[in-house]
Amino acid sequence: MLTTLIYRSLVNPGLRQACIQTLVQDALERNNAKHVTGILLFDGAEFFQVLEGEETVVNALFNRIRTDPRHSAVVLMMQDFSAYRRFNDTGMQLFDACSHPEESILNDIRSLSQFRGGYLQDDRIVRLATQFLSQRRTQPAPARFCPSSWHLEGREHFSLADWPAAAPQQSCQFALQPIVEALTGKVSSFEALIRSPSGGSPANMFALVPADKLYDFDLETKACAFSLGSRMLQAGEKLSVNLLPGVLCSVPGAVETLIAQIEAAGLRPEQIIIEVTETEAITDQDAFYQALKALRIAGTGFAIDDFGSGYSGLALLARFQPDKIKIDRALIEGIHLSGVKQAIVRSIARCCEELGITLVAEGVETLEEWCWLESIGIHLFQGFLFSRPILNSVGEIEWPIGNRSV
Ligand code: C2E
Ligand code: MN
Ligand code: MN
Repeated sequence: MLTTLIYRSLVNPGLRQACIQTLVQDALERNNAKHVTGILLFDGAEFFQVLEGEETVVNALFNRIRTDPRHSAVVLMMQDFSAYRRFNDTGMQLFDACSHPEESILNDIRSLSQFRGGYLQDDRIVRLATQFLSQRRTQPAPARFCPSSWHLEGREHFSLADWPAAAPQQSCQFALQPIVEALTGKVSSFEALIRSPSGGSPANMFALVPADKLYDFDLETKACAFSLGSRMLQAGEKLSVNLLPGVLCSVPGAVETLIAQIEAAGLRPEQIIIEVTETEAITDQDAFYQALKALRIAGTGFAIDDFGSGYSGLALLARFQPDKIKIDRALIEGIHLSGVKQAIVRSIARCCEELGITLVAEGVETLEEWCWLESIGIHLFQGFLFSRPILNSVGEIEWPIGNRSV
């Protein structure tokens, strides 16, 4: 299958013009042999390359390019498919934006193509190249958030002599995972994640509950989460709990029950955040929004969970603005490598900033992901990088520390 792949990367500052010519010459021979077209734009600091050819060949080539030490921060901007080649037998062409004007480079690229009678004007490739050539590079990724400038150090957050083991008769347990402000070393909240009596996942737990009792069960079990929270929350920390939206739409008096549970545990509604994922269609929209209003009036926080996945998204946000949005892990995984995820997350961040909504990135697993997210101004994180969820307890939290020598 024909594929077109575009990446951008930062050219190694030590790479001289002559070396770039050698690189292009080597690639020309390799690409010709494999019927791959490579169009390489260079602006003195960055590469922008289009590769077109057979999918497996292009993927193998890109995997090699990724680890080439002559450049770094390789970000995939586009991978798409087409019935026709845009560029026939072009081999490898270099366009030097330091010495040629933008419009003449774009014209040259267009003239290389026989795509649908030379009709490349509106093609996404041309748009991406235009964007690359015309951007004002006023904000290079700050060197401060280069992953090699950081390491992790574990610190015991807080220890209770007698962490409450789950009572034997309890129908469920909770694991706790911190949401951290990584640069200041503060825990902003803990999320209580349900576990079965034997420690199984939420899916295992809910599989033990009859379908018609699911909402009642979800609501009742929150009392255990609040009771755990009341024993471990420290000043300024909050507790997040998850609820199926159906609980809020269809269990009569659900909000009153929650508030009563919170108070019975000796907590205040302001210390609690209710997280909702739209894993199921919300059948009674009006009842749902009435419940959200009641939560607001009672004083708890409200978060849209898994934002950007499935149904959890814009329609809900347009109608009701939460205190917090948690970006789904699927958008965070490998974000430092994906131009598409970067564009989406940057626009979510801009939207939240404009609306005054706190943003949390979920599922952060690597320093590379964390550095990229910090560099665009996201400051709250949840993920295995900092801490895994721990049953009935809080353990060590790993904090990023700047390497003094760098
Ligand atoms: P969630 O609310 O999005 O919670 C985060 C999930 O991501 C947790 O999975 C957590 O263990 C996992 N996670 C956190 N950091 C990372 C990471 O860096 N990498 C990876 N791969 N995973 C990470 P868990 O505990 O299995 O929970 C799954 C989902 O079950 C939760 O997703 C939530 O939607 C639901 N859930 C949990 N407790 C409850 C509950 O009491 N009621 C309801 N209705 N749903 C619950
Ligand atoms: Mn959640
Ligand atoms: Mn989530």
